Amino acid sequence: MSNDVRNVIIIGSGPAGYTAGLYTARAMLEPLLFAGYMSGGQLMLTSDVENFPGYPEGVTGPEMMMHIRSQSERFGCEVVDKNVESVDLSSKPYKVSVEGEVFKANALIVCTGAESIWLGVEGEEEQKGRGISTCATCDGAFFKDQEVLVVGGGDSAMEEASFLTRFASKVTIIHRRDVFRASNIMLERAIKNPKIDIKKWRKVTSWLSDENGLTGAILEDTRNGEKEEINVTGAFIAIGHKPITSFLKNQVETDEEGYILHKENTMTNVDGVFAAGDVVDTRYKQAITAAGMGCQAAIDCEKWLEENEY
Ligand code: NAP
Repeated sequence: MSNDVRNVIIIGSGPAGYTAGLYTARAMLEPLLFAGYMSGGQLMLTSDVENFPGYPEGVTGPEMMMHIRSQSERFGCEVVDKNVESVDLSSKPYKVSVEGEVFKANALIVCTGAESIWLGVEGEEEQKGRGISTCATCDGAFFKDQEVLVVGGGDSAMEEASFLTRFASKVTIIHRRDVFRASNIMLERAIKNPKIDIKKWRKVTSWLSDENGLTGAILEDTRNGEKEEINVTGAFIAIGHKPITSFLKNQVETDEEGYILHKENTMTNVDGVFAAGDVVDTRYKQAITAAGMGCQAAIDCEKWLEENEY
């Protein structure tokens, strides 16, 4: 165990984490940030970001994450690309376990974001990472000139479908009702794309495969239960995300879905433990709102350290 007690350890490296790193570094708190092996969060899996202010021509998610990371490092934020396994919040200073090493800090800012939800239907496990993916940016190029399916009716599904038309010969969006959560601009873009077909009132009840991989899916009409088969060799699930909080082992209060609850501004129910970004946000889930909340958490953390005379 290191005997050094840091002012603040930040866990997570999406826009919230890096922004918290930038602000706490500029506040001379010498933050230590654990970025995880897959640093950068969900934006590393995003193609073009067109709605982050300051990029009139758009920017790719990975590029933007590299920018925010290097901006935080420029002011002295120490970024370590390792995963936090657990934390011990039972006494101060708080302890953070990382690959057999224990780090101590007076305050923590949790910005671990969220991970994709899978459908969990028959045949899915066997095809995960083969024919079925949750990341078109990562796996789309494997499906050149093939027919693929995208499940979901939100912005993620529209974005994945539009991106996949760069490679696939046809993309079918499967949505379980006729109302979409997707923003109008993203939905319109998908509707206008000649390679995209949208099937409403359908859900996938099982995946079909043979020795070469995915061959299709059984779809069910959600109004009357009628079944039909669709032939595709690739499928992308874009039905939302769940917060990454299991490493906290119930030491911080969450809602029933696992989203961390704020008790006072961005502080959780644990004194000196703050949270920001998608791990908290059940409503907005935008890069800009995550970055904004990372800034708020950093300012709250700085004030808390000062008031508590650390
Ligand atoms: P979302 O908006 O929550 O949409 C999830 C979709 O998946 C909904 O259509 C939902 O259907 C469907 N769904 C959920 N569980 C399902 C299941 N078990 N079976 C079948 N369908 C299921 O999630 P998201 O699209 O990931 O977007 C999350 C947030 O990120 C949003 O705020 C979005 O604006 C943002 N985002 C923004 C961009 C961008 O601006 N470039 C890109 C991606 C995401 P129901 O509607 O029937 O519940």
